[in-house]
Amino acid sequence: MKIQQSYWEQQSFFKNIDIAIVGSGIVGLSAAIHCKEQMPQAKVLIIEKGVLPTGASTRNAGFACFGSLTELLDDLENHSEDEVFALVERRWQGLQRLRQRVGDSDLGYRAWGGYEIFRQEESEIAQTCLEKIDYFNKAIQSITGLEETYQIRNKEIPKFGFSNIRTMIVNTAEGQIHTGDMMKSLLAIARQKGVEILNGLGIKSVHDEENEVILETDFGWHFRAKKALIATNGFAQHLLPKLQVQPARNQVLITKPIDNLSIKGCFHYDRGYVYFRNIDNRILLGGGRNLAKEVEATNNFGLTTFIQDHLEKLLREVILPKQTFEIDQRWSGILGVGDIKKPIIESISQNVVVAVRMGGMGVAIGSLVGEEGATILLS
Ligand SMILES: Cc1cc2nc3c(=O)[nH]c(=O)nc-3n(C[C@H](O)[C@H](O)[C@H](O)COP(=O)(O)OP(=O)(O)OC[C@H]3O[C@@H](n4cnc5c(N)ncnc54)[C@H](O)[C@@H]3O)c2cc1C
Repeated sequence: MKIQQSYWEQQSFFKNIDIAIVGSGIVGLSAAIHCKEQMPQAKVLIIEKGVLPTGASTRNAGFACFGSLTELLDDLENHSEDEVFALVERRWQGLQRLRQRVGDSDLGYRAWGGYEIFRQEESEIAQTCLEKIDYFNKAIQSITGLEETYQIRNKEIPKFGFSNIRTMIVNTAEGQIHTGDMMKSLLAIARQKGVEILNGLGIKSVHDEENEVILETDFGWHFRAKKALIATNGFAQHLLPKLQVQPARNQVLITKPIDNLSIKGCFHYDRGYVYFRNIDNRILLGGGRNLAKEVEATNNFGLTTFIQDHLEKLLREVILPKQTFEIDQRWSGILGVGDIKKPIIESISQNVVVAVRMGGMGVAIGSLVGEEGATILLS
């Protein structure tokens, strides 16, 4: 149903916009905050189709991570050494930026480490990782400032109560955050700096016209801004069909609180395709999209029995073999991925910039990517 825009709405909400930002995830919010920091007088408007930010930023696992060993080894197969460590550095710096902006307390930041765990049948890849520990520690010492970022922790496996896990390598500099509190804080910071945010308004098209940009909403309303940033990540192809970013759904579940839960930290399993952590005496567990790549290559939220059963089986057989548990909630989120592991941050026309394709790294790099997109916009 088309609703005509009133004169009042047009005059008060959609007039004299300097910068329009489409999408209020980590990237859109970081970009908006940066714009206001650089140009306090500018009118910055975020347009968000969801009631809340509804992509990945409010639905992720909250790992403040910058690379587990199988992930880095995988990356080295497809990227140069320089590219791989440059990305590690960006993730590390992005996390420092996020912590500095939001503050560890509001972020719920916990420096509890990140563990990569390997089953008995993964002994070959586990051995390769063990042999490479020194190499990776040397390579990233200048980034983390630590001599031994990665350490073998096999002796601690019994403490966590896992079954069939033979090798465990900790990343001592990895932390975890409270995803919801992070987003609530970023929204509050943006508003406090004077960013305006409109929810429930999807953008249907964005195009340059002379010295301004025309944005068309799902309501059929049009408005103008001097410049626009598209930060819609896994949904970017709706607006820009040719952009090399594909949606990838990730499913998650969380248990009810568990008595005497001994698991503490972030855990990477099955080469990082599965991840779990503790939160509020519960286990949050997600991933497994590698088992159904085609079905999960979608930007439709939803759950499948296949992946949820797989996750539950892991809980029963590997993660919590000696404890009874109940599942409390299940949800999914949408990633933006591509053939190469690098965000797209570029101008696509005179007054429009995109900042998308965060992959599974947006908590880490989202702050910097938003700022870099904003810098291009303001230049
Ligand atoms: C289950 C899951 C677990 C993850 N775990 C981690 C993790 O532990 N650590 C980590 O670093 N990363 C993780 N990620 C990735 C991380 O969450 C993302 O990379 C990051 O949140 C992306 O932020 P974004 O702002 O680019 O996109 P999003 O958060 O997806 O924001 C895009 C926004 O654009 C809005 N939008 C889309 N289209 C339109 C339109 N046409 N008009 C208006 N608004 C629109 C959407 O509603 C959405 O709010 C995970 C992701 C998922 C899904």
